[in-house]
Amino acid sequence: MVVVHTRLLTPGALAATGLLLSACGSSAASPAAGGEGGGGVQVVAAFYPLQFVTERVAGDLAAVTNLTPPGAEPHDLELAASDVAALSDADLVVYESGLQAAVDDALESAGTTAYDASADADLDLTYEGEHEHEGEEHAEEDAEGEHEEEHAAGEEQQTDPHFWLDPLRVAAVGDAVADHLSDVDPDHAEDYASGAASLRGDLEALDAELTAGLASCASTDLVTSHEAFGYLAERYGLTQVGISGLSPDEEPTAARLAEVADFVTENGVSTIYFETLVSPDIAETVAAETGAATAVLDPLEGLTDESAGSDYLEVMRANLQALRTGQSCT
Ligand code: ZN
Repeated sequence: MVVVHTRLLTPGALAATGLLLSACGSSAASPAAGGEGGGGVQVVAAFYPLQFVTERVAGDLAAVTNLTPPGAEPHDLELAASDVAALSDADLVVYESGLQAAVDDALESAGTTAYDASADADLDLTYEGEHEHEGEEHAEEDAEGEHEEEHAAGEEQQTDPHFWLDPLRVAAVGDAVADHLSDVDPDHAEDYASGAASLRGDLEALDAELTAGLASCASTDLVTSHEAFGYLAERYGLTQVGISGLSPDEEPTAARLAEVADFVTENGVSTIYFETLVSPDIAETVAAETGAATAVLDPLEGLTDESAGSDYLEVMRANLQALRTGQSCT
């Protein structure tokens, strides 16, 4: 028997046990199974890459909405009451625990069937907290307990959530999304499996292009404004140097900016990457100081009219072109 990692999120059970139900025991996951009346399965995806994956796997069989509005940055997402209602009403929520605290919190009391993509995304990259040198500054700027707590948390190991910048991790999540859609809507299990297989084919083709395109680059140091590209760097033989931390809101210290500027100068880094949803100021500061150029590398946390493509695959190909230029790949 296949054990399905659908976590039924009831308020007590989640906190107490993280209860896992087998497919056979899953009694709550039936609202859309009849498939009558149109509309199909109602899925809420927490942010764009999960929306993309779910839409590709489900095709017309599900209506997929994205909790993170276009142009918003998912890390600091806040939920409106209507979003919380949508979470509660969904047949399936596809999210990633640890990325969006508001979603994690809402799901704890929503009683909704939810799939946590971190279960299959192989999140094996961790970082030390970013703020080792900040102790004195913190004491000066804010003596409140709340801030102290944040500081302490910042020194712990942080897991890198940005799995979607590695296409093969996305493929693994796509396969799992198909399983979870099949639990909710067993009549269409074959359709979901074939949607996931088609997605996997496209992602493997993209992976092959990235592998070939980044195989021979003059520079393998990838200097980015926010540390979103760790899994991409790991997959394709680059070393990421992030100016700010795992969340783009983290303000780098003056010391960190100086450290990165030195690194850029010493290693002859020619391009510093910034992204679409946050201000390029930090990247431009380092670029101005070092004479490096700036270029956009899109972490695909959301899609907007400004994006260099209309979906995940197109934007990743634009990223590949930006990297080939910025890293001087042949
Ligand atoms: Zn991010």
